[in-house]
Amino acid sequence: MTTPVVAEIALNVPLYRNFDYLVEPQFQTNIAVGCRVAVQFGRQQLIGIVVALKSNSEFLDKLKPISRLIDNNAIIDRHMISLIEFASHYYQNPLGECYQVALPTLLNKGEAVDKSAVPIIKLIDENTSVNGKKQRQLIEHLVDSGSTPVTELSALGFSSATVKSLLEKAIIEKTVEYNRDWQSKPLAIGDKPKLKREQAIALAAINQATGYTCYLLEGVTGSGKTEVYLQALEKPLQQGKQALVLVPEIGLTPQTVNRFRRRFPNVPIMLWHSAMTDNERLSTWRAAQTQSAAIVIGTRSSVFLPFAKLAMIIVDEEHDLSFKQQDSLRYHARDLACFRAAKLAIPLILGSATPSLETIHNATNNKYQLLTLTERAQTQSDNQYVLLDMRGQHQQSGLALATLDYIKKELTKGKQVMVFLNRRGFSPSLICHECGWLSQCQRCSANATYHKHIRNLICHHCGAQEHVPTQCPSCGSTQIIPAGQGTEQVAEFLAESFPDTPITRVDRDSTRKKGSLESALHDINKGEPRILIGTQMLAKGHHFSEVSLVVIMDVDSGLYSYDFRATEHLAQLITQVSGRAGRSGEAGTVLLQTHFPEHPLLQDLINNGYQDFSRYALREREETLLPPYTSLAIIRCESHKLNDINNFLYDLIPEQLPSGIQLLGPVPAALERIAGKYRYQLHIQGNERKKLHLYLHQLVSYISQSKLATKVRWSIDIDPVSMA
Ligand code: ADP
Ligand code: ZN
Ligand code: ZN
Repeated sequence: MTTPVVAEIALNVPLYRNFDYLVEPQFQTNIAVGCRVAVQFGRQQLIGIVVALKSNSEFLDKLKPISRLIDNNAIIDRHMISLIEFASHYYQNPLGECYQVALPTLLNKGEAVDKSAVPIIKLIDENTSVNGKKQRQLIEHLVDSGSTPVTELSALGFSSATVKSLLEKAIIEKTVEYNRDWQSKPLAIGDKPKLKREQAIALAAINQATGYTCYLLEGVTGSGKTEVYLQALEKPLQQGKQALVLVPEIGLTPQTVNRFRRRFPNVPIMLWHSAMTDNERLSTWRAAQTQSAAIVIGTRSSVFLPFAKLAMIIVDEEHDLSFKQQDSLRYHARDLACFRAAKLAIPLILGSATPSLETIHNATNNKYQLLTLTERAQTQSDNQYVLLDMRGQHQQSGLALATLDYIKKELTKGKQVMVFLNRRGFSPSLICHECGWLSQCQRCSANATYHKHIRNLICHHCGAQEHVPTQCPSCGSTQIIPAGQGTEQVAEFLAESFPDTPITRVDRDSTRKKGSLESALHDINKGEPRILIGTQMLAKGHHFSEVSLVVIMDVDSGLYSYDFRATEHLAQLITQVSGRAGRSGEAGTVLLQTHFPEHPLLQDLINNGYQDFSRYALREREETLLPPYTSLAIIRCESHKLNDINNFLYDLIPEQLPSGIQLLGPVPAALERIAGKYRYQLHIQGNERKKLHLYLHQLVSYISQSKLATKVRWSIDIDPVSMA
């Protein structure tokens, strides 16, 4: 190649273009595409990535030189570069911003790639006997799961004192030496069950894959999907290759991780999630790159890890909304995983008990290969659904009297009951009994939620807090009462109704303190009669074997919503919650409180199951021309001035639209105002993805030149999963 004279740099600035800089002679030998550089940008020093090298530029004499070359070699390979470029192109985000999202924080700050190596502890002598119970447990853990990064120990309940005493006795050692030799050693495989027929068929199909195939593994909770993943991983690992397992944020529990570590005791398995420090993340990032990690189990952004020899991607709970990032680069990790697998020609496995309608659509169109697990691996009778008609029912704190009878019956049998309500706080608002005044946030078009134990009104959207007024601000009355229910109220009411039964509340308020969720789960798993009340947090990821009754209090808000995906999410929730209860051999009850017991969706779901429901829901989407039968994008816009919003959005509406493109709006967002800012949207729909993409491309390039755009905050969301 001719001497590079000009480097094109992607910088994290909100502009839809890259920037040319001069490469001075001292950098010309080492600079490469994929290196980081520091450059002067206006008055700031920024760090960017070299995305192209050129031997000339038409502005050569105007260019500033690169200030510093940070890396002497590319820190990412061609494959990663193409993945990030694809993300930028598909989601219509500036390339520099995509690099910002895709790379670990420390690398964005210019730290050396090899900066961090998180130490691990390893067992040297498992036969020495020790006295302390915790010390014994730690040894057992290490026998069970092999080496463990020190940073994971506290989540597993081991204190630094325990570690220290074992280190002093030379029973364990602390080292930064990861097993780099795992690829040459024969793969050790821990105990595993013999696969059931359907599992064996699924595994055989996956093992046959040559090149890219996407499999949808559809099976109820407990049908043995994870077992299929584990056995499917044997093939790539035996070949010394790597795998990525994507899980929802909430699914990354020590139990899950230990299951993988126990199965593959001699390959290094590392984690990636939001609770890790920047150092730990860089360490995992580097391990993926240097192949000192064989498997990474990670949340959304692990889809950007720079594996050197990636041979399989698994996305567990593929329907989970946490795979879609909701700000900055609004990517869907599942969809990027799909791009990556296709590009690398490797298999991709999507697993779920309740696949998204998009994925089911792809499976029925034969874009994905459908593998179904219909039986539970460990026998369990099907749960029984009860649709409790709330019309005319006497209720207290949102629970019907009949519901209380159901709860009482299970508790007397010595069982646990789980009550689900997706609203924290005591009540969603306060109301004046005299004049009808409602507690509202001053800065949002939303109610202010009453939190009783701290006697505060809190806005769940902007966080504003104020004391509960002693008198109605409008009429002066002292009769201010709670309106509606949140988990705090239901917990209080249930405690009064069942004074002898312990109650555990699981929501964001009750689990704020570190370790409190773990201790709540620990209490629940003791198995004695107990009522669990909680939000989404309780519904996901945990299995409660002693729960024999699940109550879903507010079904109706999911049936009638501004968001066309609400029914899909409701059906997923009901199915997931019901799958998490009950022990082998015993059927549980799922009680749905609703004013619409005849609703066809509920009827279909409870009589025929999620599979049937989803096919029915897809037909409905087809008739109403909604995704996945059309493609959708949302332009969102925020400003303190409604006028600026209108000027910006109306300017985007052309006199004539290209055929196959529809525009809706501007419409107010579900919450028209948050923290004083107005929020409006433009919905853009295309009959064909390609056409929509082309149109958006022109639109975004128009916006990036528009003066009106500088007065508002705007963003674009391709394939939105939420209409909010
Ligand atoms: P899922 O991931 O679908 O929820 P799992 O793979 O976790 O299901 O399986 C549920 C339970 O059944 C686990 O305890 C697992 O060890 C067990 N299991 C899975 N497959 C088999 C099998 N073929 N034989 C016996 N037990 C199995
Ligand atoms: Zn009043
Ligand atoms: Zn607010």
